[in-house]
Amino acid sequence: MVNVALIAHDKKKLDLVMFVKEWKNVFSQCKLYATKTTGSVLKDKVGLEIQTFESGPLGGDLQIGALAVSGKIDFVLFLRDPLTAQPHEPDVSAVLRICDVHNIPLATNLATAEALVLEIEKKFTNK
Ligand code: PGA
Repeated sequence: MVNVALIAHDKKKLDLVMFVKEWKNVFSQCKLYATKTTGSVLKDKVGLEIQTFESGPLGGDLQIGALAVSGKIDFVLFLRDPLTAQPHEPDVSAVLRICDVHNIPLATNLATAEALVLEIEKKFTNK
């Protein structure tokens, strides 16, 4: 099983929805985790099963970070909004940091997300 965490800041949620829709065949084979709002938007618009946590600003990023620490996350797609100040910036940084600490592939923009999803796809097609 490939475990993928999906998080998007508000102005990036639509981008994430479009991206996950485009790659639904890959994501539907993964175990998906998301922060609350990101997860509910994805469930609603893409119709995938997703385990959700608290909203990011209320600690959801940290919950996903904790999963990553326990080795339960293989890939993180975190579409950050680099142009808007986030009240929970320390939590955002903690997730990025913990991915680096544990060498977890992390995409923070669509270009890298595409590279990661191609990598995930390979796991299902034995390429
Ligand atoms: P949300 O949290 O999915 O609950 O909006 C994401 C975030 O802002 O970190």
